Amino acid sequence: RGGVPERAVPFAQPGSLTRVYAVASGKGGVGKSSVTANLAAAMAADGLSVGLVDADIYGFSIPRMLGVTGRPTKVGDMIMPPVALGVKVVSMGLFVRDNAPVAFRGPKLHRALEQFLTDFAWGDLDVLLLDLPPGTGDIAISVSHLLPSSEVLVVTTPQAAAAEVAERAGTLARQTSQRVAGVIENMAYLPCPHCAAEGRDHRLDVFGSGGGAAVAGALEAALGLPVPVLGSIPIEPRLREGGDSGLPLVLADPTAPAAVTLREVALRL
Ligand code: ADP
Repeated sequence: RGGVPERAVPFAQPGSLTRVYAVASGKGGVGKSSVTANLAAAMAADGLSVGLVDADIYGFSIPRMLGVTGRPTKVGDMIMPPVALGVKVVSMGLFVRDNAPVAFRGPKLHRALEQFLTDFAWGDLDVLLLDLPPGTGDIAISVSHLLPSSEVLVVTTPQAAAAEVAERAGTLARQTSQRVAGVIENMAYLPCPHCAAEGRDHRLDVFGSGGGAAVAGALEAALGLPVPVLGSIPIEPRLREGGDSGLPLVLADPTAPAAVTLREVALRL
């Protein structure tokens, strides 16, 4: 487990030009998958060649969020990933029938991730995003072994409790010598719709405030390197709707403030 894969991981080869980002969070429900799906769609819309590995093997949600309808197809001894909205997607969800639960133990999880990386014909990618499961479990460790040069993006809400666990996910990067590319604060505030209708910008701190800056500050101190807050994304019901319908907000309404922030983050990566 965590050893040398049977087939080489293309993105881990010297000279690979693919930037690899592992999107992590301390706990579930903070919007990590939604952020990942929107970043992938925004980057593809900007003309980049983008791959997305849904490394949340048993909690996969990416196929629905990107509206994947294609199936993986076999070509020789490789598998072609389906493409949705210009993004090449591999997820356990492509192989599971009737939404049956996936129960894998650590070594099998590692093997599944390894196969996602080595058995698929990814081609030349500009960017590979990995949607990690929440927390600091087996898969996060596997990613650091299989993709040692991957960078970590930490998603958190402004809430202190969420920020503390997000910090732990980030400090794992120190043990695995991964760079932390930055922190994304999601569900940062709710723009009051009634005030907006009257032309006023009134923000409700539904989940508190300051979590993104707190995580970035703590990680900077732990890692001894600058860790920027890449963006604060507001609560936006249409972002949730986009995830349910398979059309990410960055494409459905690129001018929505949440979409603008997500596109800015995509450009900074
Ligand atoms: P995670 O991957 O961290 O478990 P999800 O991306 O599945 O989180 O998001 C959890 C829920 O919150 C989903 O229903 C999603 O649509 C919703 N959601 C995420 N971000 C936002 C946001 N900024 N505004 C509104 N709803 C959001």
